[in-house]
Amino acid sequence: MNKPKMTTEKGVPSNSRVLMLLGQLERLNREAMLADAEIGRQITAKILHLIQTQEKTRKEIMSKGSSGMEVILATLENTPDLQTILNILYILNELLTVGGGRRVGVFVSKGGTGILLQLVLSGSKESPPSEELMLQLHSLLAKVGPKDRKFGVKARLNGALNVTVNLLKQNLQNHKLLLPCLQVLRVYSSNSVNAVSLGKNGVLELMFKIIGPYSKKNTSLLKVSLDTLGALLKSKTNARRAVDRAHVPVLLYIYQDWHRNDTRHRHMLIRKGVLGCLKNITNIKLGRKAFIDADGMRILYNTSTECLPVRTLDPLINTSSLIMRKCFPKNRLPLPTIKSVFHHQLPHVPAGGPVAQLYNQPLGVDDVVDESDDNDDVETENDTENEEEDKDHHAMNDDIETDINKLRPKETHSRPFEELKIYERFFLELSEDFQRFNFDNPKSGVTATAAASKSQRLIIVPTAQALPPKYPTAAPLQEERHLAKGEQPHPEASPLAPAPTPAPVHTLDTINITKDHDGCCDHSQVRPQPGQEQELVQGMERVALEGTGPQGGAGGGGVNRHYRQPPLLAGGVAARQGGGAEETLAEEWAEEEGGEGAVLEVPDTALLLPLHDPDLYVEMVKSTRSVPQYSEVAYPDYFGHVAPTFREHILERVYGVQRTKIFQDIERLIHPNDILDKVVYDLDIQSCPVIDDGESLKFNSQFESGNLRKAIQVRKFEYDLVLNSDINSNHYHQWFYFEVSGMRVGAPYRFNIINCEKSNSQFNYGMQVLMYSVQEAISGRPRWVRTGTDICYYKNHFSRSSIAAGGQKGKSYYTMTFSMTFNHKDDVCYFAYHYPYTYSTLKMHLQKLEALRTPQIYMRQDVLCETLGGNSCPLLTITAMPESTSNDQICQFRNRPLVFLSARVHPGETNASWVMKGTLEFLMGSSPLAHSLREAYIFKIVPMLNPDGVVNGNHRCSLSGEDLNRQWQSPSPELHPTIYHTKSLLQYLAAIQRAPLVFCDYHGHSRKKNVFMYGCSLKETVWQTNISATSCELHEDLGYRTLPKILSQTAPAFSMASCSFVVERSKEATARVVVWREIGVQRSYTMESTLCGCDQGKYKGLQIGTRELEEMGAQFCVALLRLKRLTSPLELRNHAHLLDVESDLIETRCKVTSSPSTYVLEDEEHSFMEEVDYSAESGDEPDIDPDTADPHDNRLSDSESNNHRDSLT
Ligand SMILES: [Zn+2]
Repeated sequence: MNKPKMTTEKGVPSNSRVLMLLGQLERLNREAMLADAEIGRQITAKILHLIQTQEKTRKEIMSKGSSGMEVILATLENTPDLQTILNILYILNELLTVGGGRRVGVFVSKGGTGILLQLVLSGSKESPPSEELMLQLHSLLAKVGPKDRKFGVKARLNGALNVTVNLLKQNLQNHKLLLPCLQVLRVYSSNSVNAVSLGKNGVLELMFKIIGPYSKKNTSLLKVSLDTLGALLKSKTNARRAVDRAHVPVLLYIYQDWHRNDTRHRHMLIRKGVLGCLKNITNIKLGRKAFIDADGMRILYNTSTECLPVRTLDPLINTSSLIMRKCFPKNRLPLPTIKSVFHHQLPHVPAGGPVAQLYNQPLGVDDVVDESDDNDDVETENDTENEEEDKDHHAMNDDIETDINKLRPKETHSRPFEELKIYERFFLELSEDFQRFNFDNPKSGVTATAAASKSQRLIIVPTAQALPPKYPTAAPLQEERHLAKGEQPHPEASPLAPAPTPAPVHTLDTINITKDHDGCCDHSQVRPQPGQEQELVQGMERVALEGTGPQGGAGGGGVNRHYRQPPLLAGGVAARQGGGAEETLAEEWAEEEGGEGAVLEVPDTALLLPLHDPDLYVEMVKSTRSVPQYSEVAYPDYFGHVAPTFREHILERVYGVQRTKIFQDIERLIHPNDILDKVVYDLDIQSCPVIDDGESLKFNSQFESGNLRKAIQVRKFEYDLVLNSDINSNHYHQWFYFEVSGMRVGAPYRFNIINCEKSNSQFNYGMQVLMYSVQEAISGRPRWVRTGTDICYYKNHFSRSSIAAGGQKGKSYYTMTFSMTFNHKDDVCYFAYHYPYTYSTLKMHLQKLEALRTPQIYMRQDVLCETLGGNSCPLLTITAMPESTSNDQICQFRNRPLVFLSARVHPGETNASWVMKGTLEFLMGSSPLAHSLREAYIFKIVPMLNPDGVVNGNHRCSLSGEDLNRQWQSPSPELHPTIYHTKSLLQYLAAIQRAPLVFCDYHGHSRKKNVFMYGCSLKETVWQTNISATSCELHEDLGYRTLPKILSQTAPAFSMASCSFVVERSKEATARVVVWREIGVQRSYTMESTLCGCDQGKYKGLQIGTRELEEMGAQFCVALLRLKRLTSPLELRNHAHLLDVESDLIETRCKVTSSPSTYVLEDEEHSFMEEVDYSAESGDEPDIDPDTADPHDNRLSDSESNNHRDSLT
């Protein structure tokens, strides 16, 4: 007996019978003895018998190191004998049926598929072909095809495609052969080129012969045919063919039939298969039209509604909803134009700039929905081959800067020093000798503010005696206001026409100051509740109207002048009231007071909010200039915000919410008569109407940072809201801030902001909107709280034309929806995207901060420049006073390293301002740390780089219609003054060799959690690319990682894992990159704070609030102090252990190179349950990977459920 040669591996029993047989087979091959058919037949028959009877035999053949599969395939390839071939096919069918993907993988890797396809072709040349051979070959191909990425191409090149199709055509009644052939066809079809070719060969029609109405027979045939059809219909050519032959109504009919008859839901996969076909057909415009014409919306809506109670039918509902959303007719937004409702005349409009482009668009085209706008890829007659390009999915992010010259410091300073010299005046501290400074009386010293001298416009604040409360905002300052050229006066700025109804004259002097809660606090809705707010309640002071305005208007003396009227009280509600039927909030309160006075309680928050002062706020508002010339003040900004003490958890996403919302949206089309479509607020109409019939909510956003353009009541308790775009722009909407009143207590209101733009939002990941209730505020709880339920964010059916979208394909808008039940009657509530922080608030805070100055603090406020809108941009200098005028002291003072901070270049990122507030408050604090910090550095701070954007409620831009954080490379002094001058300050510092040690620009991030930093590193950028420059040639200090590393150890909200130090091309004109490259600041950062919350650290699972944001700002300061200690050579010895930070970084190098996650792409959030209907654009459903799916899940138990992956790569 010959010992088989193939048993080369240890552990394989050499006396195994099957291995011996394989050895014989191998010898037959080698000695070209296969001509002797009989021997081959005998050996293969014996092997088959062993395999069928002994499980271990299979294992022996397939064991690692065994060459059994090669021997079998060699025999299959070489033998001319049909019976031997069949034996081997039986063997293979046995072997590959079990053992999962690995065995099939071995088979494919040894070239098995090619041999099978060759046999299909040669077998087809016999006439008639052996049915058994074809049956076995196709059964095997059905198993191995899905595992072979090149299967589709191989089959086409080999000619097997047509063989299979012909077999099908000839054997429609032969179900035994039909099934494996269909299974193979399904795999062929997943290749797009094959799909087109099969379509031309009539395979679509063939499939329609097999599929049909409900029947219990041959369901597996039906299922495979539907899958095949679905795959074929991914080709647009085939989809058109199907539409032309009126297959859409047929599919809808079949779907309804199965829906009706499959009452026990045994055939969910068949029903899903029909939907899959419809889903693919409706990817083309013609398909969507055919679907609508065939009443598809109603059919799918009704069937889905009936499926809703059965959870296992969710896949049907999800796919139906995807189809319906895709087919829902695209609408333009309900606006006359999507251009901003406000226009600001620029000093000059650069040709080719965004504003020129916007206003050069022909009238009427800017938002017409262009019918070619759909989600299709460009339609081509010949669908392209996509399987052959072996794309590496780990390919580099193509946004990474690969031009090494652009990563190196810029050599030349572009501006002559003479030109920069004028900036010397912002750096008095660098030359200050303090000779005239009186150290005994430091308040008289040098630190006077430049801003204080700035002239302010005169604004008359209406008072109760000057004006009836109903018309408190009447004509503020008309004379003072000047309109920009060509600008129409805004209705709100003009005198209000109707004659005021005389309001009761209140006798102010009769009201006493009291800290008790009598009188006006007695009505139920205002009654303070016991609890955690007790201390605030105790401190609350009754306030009322004051007889005189701040400008000293009409007299009205009295000693108890501690009452005050909130500015423009009730203006938000009452200012536009036409007929006087409505009672204002103030009047109601007043009446309940027995007409004693128009009283509004201002919560006394002085202790809790040392930087807030309502009166001062109003003063600040007077010098704030807005394009719409706002004259109202929103209560939250007036009262202030006291961060709640309770925790606000990130919301758990409730399954099915999005679906419910989408179905409600679809119902608008199905039941159009149920829709009210009543406009209740509209800035596009000169006299912005306020409908007040008691049936609708009242809206307002005409105050600083407000943003709401239109409100439409669609159902009794449901409103569509449209946000205004940034001024001089036609997009950038995300930020919102508006007021609502006239609500019914306990009613379930739904709000939909229908023109959001980003493709995803933290609203899908647990973030809530912010709400401020005036009733709560006057009851002692003045605060923004996270609120809203059923929140979700999804693509809707509104879109704009490609022209309006700046040449991009027509873009859909997204809906952010939330539901809300109000607790108080007659409340005035405000909603915002994030905690508002207005420009006037900043000015108030700066003034209050200045009051905190002690003799030890050097603080100066300069006006860096004026903005386009006429607001001043403050620049702060903070450091410690020198202890004396001794040379040493003055020298130390002048030579302190500089830290340059800025914030709020993006107006919608209000969180950046709260972080900045934390930083400023810490810097002005009295703690020893703050003192050390001031002694360590000179701080230069531009706390608000974009005041105009903030004032006017923009989300992203300045009045130039541009993102200021993309202008740093060459800012224009006329169009981007704040950036131009801030950059000049830095250029001046570089020119005098005093470039800052740290530059950091504070931002907010809408799509990620935590707080983190982006920095710039040449090496880390190069590591992410294929640049061949050896990194050892690049010398780079790792110091840029120190500050974020310290922050990750000290600041609870900060996450090092989210930081990135890669320089992206798209960011080359941002502050961070320009300051790094042009100014040469190694530690140049963007610090991003989440709008949502944290998923790590102490605040894990919580939404972020102003307390945490302010804490972050303070922690940033503390980290700077540690940085100082680490970078000071004198201190190094004492802090040797801290050097670990730096050595740590060297270790992270390996991590950085291996983990692409250190640079940050767009969305990092994991998908959630309803992702399938998250975006109607996506034609792909999540693939079930047969390798990782649960093998016991019977949906995956056979090859039918394998996804056809070969076209997906
Ligand atoms: Zn930003």
